[in-house]
Amino acid sequence: MEEMRCDAIVVGAGPAGIAAAMTIAQGGLEVIVLERGSFAGAKNVMGGILYAQPTAEVLPGIDWSTAPVERHIIEQRYWLLTEDSHIGLSYRTQAFDAPNYNAFSVMRAEWDQWFAAQAEEMGVFIIPEMTVTDVVWKDGAVVGVKTSGGDELFADVVIIADGANSLLAQTAGMHKEWQPKEQALVTKELIRLGEDRVRERFNLQGQQGLAMEIFGQSTSYLLGYGFIYTNKDTISIGSGALLQDLIDVGVNVNDMLERFKQHPSVAALIEGGETIEYAAHLIPEGGWHSLPQLYIDGALLCGDAAMLVNPLNREGSNFAMLSGVFAGQTVLRAKERGDFHAATLSYYRELLDDSFIMKDLYKIRNVTDFAHSRPYLLTDVPEAISQALREYLRVDSVPKKDKQAKMIAGMRKAMPMRRTVRDMLAARKVMT
Ligand code: FAD
Repeated sequence: MEEMRCDAIVVGAGPAGIAAAMTIAQGGLEVIVLERGSFAGAKNVMGGILYAQPTAEVLPGIDWSTAPVERHIIEQRYWLLTEDSHIGLSYRTQAFDAPNYNAFSVMRAEWDQWFAAQAEEMGVFIIPEMTVTDVVWKDGAVVGVKTSGGDELFADVVIIADGANSLLAQTAGMHKEWQPKEQALVTKELIRLGEDRVRERFNLQGQQGLAMEIFGQSTSYLLGYGFIYTNKDTISIGSGALLQDLIDVGVNVNDMLERFKQHPSVAALIEGGETIEYAAHLIPEGGWHSLPQLYIDGALLCGDAAMLVNPLNREGSNFAMLSGVFAGQTVLRAKERGDFHAATLSYYRELLDDSFIMKDLYKIRNVTDFAHSRPYLLTDVPEAISQALREYLRVDSVPKKDKQAKMIAGMRKAMPMRRTVRDMLAARKVMT
């Protein structure tokens, strides 16, 4: 029987796989994407904020008015929640309003389908409902894949872009099983509010949108964050924390999200809404210290499967797309040389190292450990700030001098001088 063969096989039709396939197809090679879902996006979960500039790298000149985006983000809010208060910081700018878009809220099922359709127009062949179960080896190199139906497909190179906790990369020996401390478990709900209520509650006009990241009570005080993103007539609300912490403390993520939704500041935003979708998913957060082997003879790893996520800045989809582009460029170069050995494919790592992706991952490499070893930053400190602000704002005939003394005493208790100085020095070291 004749062997089924093409230039490149991509496993997974998420942003990483599709961006890789687009790059390869535009370079004139034959590329097939195998996706286990019934369509691209069918299995995807994302809050989700998509970034304009990285998307334009793969779709130059993209006309955002025809793309399935929900709202363009003009405001970012950060909240620190105690049990009964929130301390907030927000930034809104016209500089992110039309047409100078920075980011959009999207529904992944719609976005991924549309993104995949753009790839098909470029000549990419996408096969849905096709689960890859293993790679095929020959003389120590990956030369193809095996599907759940028992078929084998062959190619010069396989790009593994099967998302978080990539089973295929494990099977191919590119990374070991992820540890609970290397991944966050996140739950997300889509709540329908209606277009008018979304605009009124979040102070938005037209298609303007807003994103919120929320710490403290939103994650039952574990390291992680809650989020609220405005869509056209719905909001995405979610919450997540490191899997290891959830296991250690015995917190169930569904209960965590329910508690978050009941916080008085949050309940007011979602009141009267109807939950229309629920999902839970892993996010790879091991970062720099947990990066897997990114290339071997005949195979490359990108996107979430390669642990390329910056949880601190909510960046995953952009890392996925750009790593896909770099993987695609590496394949085109390898084809020119007629060599798909690891030494040639190592160009992929060079491209990543030269980009902001590896620079950012390196910069934040110790941030999780820093925050993790200081749980009081999400408990005692916000509570003390909240109490100090309450004291300051309550008008109750107490002399300001007495109020000030009480506020300082409270802050000193929560933030002892020596420890705070030590923390600030450590923070400076961690962030440089
Ligand atoms: P995925 O998008 O996971 O795509 C992998 C694809 O591979 C899927 O379609 C899957 O069905 C397919 N697949 C898996 N196994 C197989 C197999 N064996 N055979 C065939 N196909 C297979 N990022 C942001 O930039 N902004 C956000 O706001 C944001 N919010 C998030 C919120 C949540 C709740 C979560 C979970 C993630 C969020 N992320 C966000 C991260 C972002 O979703 C990921 O970084 C991004 O989707 C990674 O893209 P990918 O292509 O690598 O993987």
